Amino acid sequence: MKPLIIIGTGLAGYTVARELRKLGNSAPIILMTADDGGFYSKPMLSNAFAQNKAAQQLVTQSAAQMAATLGATILTRTRIGHIDAVAKTVTAGNATFEYDQLVLALGAQPIRLALAGDAAHQVVSVNHVDDYALFRNRIAALGRPARVAILGAGLIGCEFADDLAGAGHQATLIDPNALPLSALAAPALSRGLHAALRARGVAFHGGTTAARVDQNNEALRVWLADGTSIDADLVLSAVGLRPDLTLAQAADLKTARGIVVDAYGQTSAPGIYALGDCAEYSDADGSRVLPYIAPLMAAARAIARTIGGQPAPIDLKPAPVVVKTPSYPLALVPPPPQALAGGEWHTTQHGTRAICRFYDHQGIMLGFGVAPQDAGVRLQLVGELGKRAE
Ligand code: FAD
Repeated sequence: MKPLIIIGTGLAGYTVARELRKLGNSAPIILMTADDGGFYSKPMLSNAFAQNKAAQQLVTQSAAQMAATLGATILTRTRIGHIDAVAKTVTAGNATFEYDQLVLALGAQPIRLALAGDAAHQVVSVNHVDDYALFRNRIAALGRPARVAILGAGLIGCEFADDLAGAGHQATLIDPNALPLSALAAPALSRGLHAALRARGVAFHGGTTAARVDQNNEALRVWLADGTSIDADLVLSAVGLRPDLTLAQAADLKTARGIVVDAYGQTSAPGIYALGDCAEYSDADGSRVLPYIAPLMAAARAIARTIGGQPAPIDLKPAPVVVKTPSYPLALVPPPPQALAGGEWHTTQHGTRAICRFYDHQGIMLGFGVAPQDAGVRLQLVGELGKRAE
C-alpha cells in the first residue's frame, strides 16, 4: 500500500497526521521536512524573550518522539524538489517516493525588502525556531541590552517589540502607517497600543519606511526614507510572509497568492491537499491566505476526514486573533478588506476596556477589536458577528 505523504512538519503537517490518528486511521504516513522535524509552537517565538526561553526549551518533542507518537515515518533534512502529480511521486535529491495521497504543508517565507546599504544582508527574520536561536544568540553575544530596529509594526513586529522591551532590550518599530497594527485594528485600538508600547519604552517611527542599512563600526545604521537614521545592533524584518509557490507551480497546481484549495482543502490536482501558511482558502468571502493557527486547525480536521473517506468541508468560522502584546492585550477579527471602504468602526468604552465594532454599509457587524481582551468578551463579540447593529 502506498503511503500518505505530508510535506512539512510545522503545525499544519503535524496536525493533519495527528487528526488522522485520532480518527483511528492507521494508514502508513511519511512526513518529510527540510528542517529537523522538532515540534514547537510557532506563536511562542514572539513571546519567548520576556520569559527567558532558549530555543531548545521551545521544542517540546524531537522528530523521533513525534514519529513514535504518530506511528509515522519522519524523514528530516529532506527537501522535496519536485512533485509529479500524474505519476504521484515526490523527489528529494536522488530519491523518489510514491504516494497515494499528498498533503502540502509547506509554510511561507519572510518577504525580503529591497534595501540599499552595505549591511542590508544582515537584516534577519524570525519564522522558525532555528531563526529564533540565531537571533537570541546574537543578542546574548552583545552582553548588554540590545538595540533592535524592527521593520513593520504589524502583528509580529508589535509582539516582538513588546517582548524584547519586556526582556530589557530597546526596540524601535518602523512602519509606513502612522500607527501600529493599522492594517488589522480599529484606529482607537492602534492608538491604545501605540501609547502602551511607548510607555514600555518602545520607540515608533510611523509614516516612513527603511531605505538602507549600513555598517556603522560594530553596529548598524538604518536610514529611513524621511532622512532620519536609527542606530541598532540588529535589524529584524517583520513585513510579512509569502508562500514559495515554485514546487506547486512546477506541478501545475493552481496558485494565486498561495496554493489554491477548494472547500475540502484539495488543490486543483485530485488527491493533493494543501493547508497552513502555503494555502489559499476559498469560501463565501472569496479566496485568501489565512496565516493563523485557527484556520490551520480547522483545515487539518477537515482534510483528515476527507483523506479517510468521509469528505468534510473546512469550517472557516471567524476566530479572533489574540495579539500577544502584554502591555496592551488585544483580540481582533479584522473585517474583510473589501468591506473596509463602505463601512465604519464604532468604539465604545467600558471602564478601561475599549470595544471597536466594524459595521458594513448595511449595518452588519463584520469585524471587531477589543482591549484588554479575555475569553468571555471574545466569545460575546464573535456571537455578534454577521448581525445588525442594535
Ligand atoms: P511552517 O511552520 O512554516 O512549516 C512549514 C514546514 O514545511 C517546515 O517543516 C518546513 O521545513 C517544510 N518545508 C517547506 N518547504 C519544503 C520542501 N520543499 N521540502 C520539505 N519540507 C519543506 N498565528 C496565530 O494564530 N496566533 C499567534 O499568536 C501567532 N503568532 C505568531 C508568531 C510568530 C513569530 C510567527 C512567525 C507566526 C505566528 N502565527 C500566529 C502564525 C502561525 O504560527 C503560522 O500560521 C503557523 O505556525 C504556520 O504553520 P505551517 O505548518 O503552515 O508552516
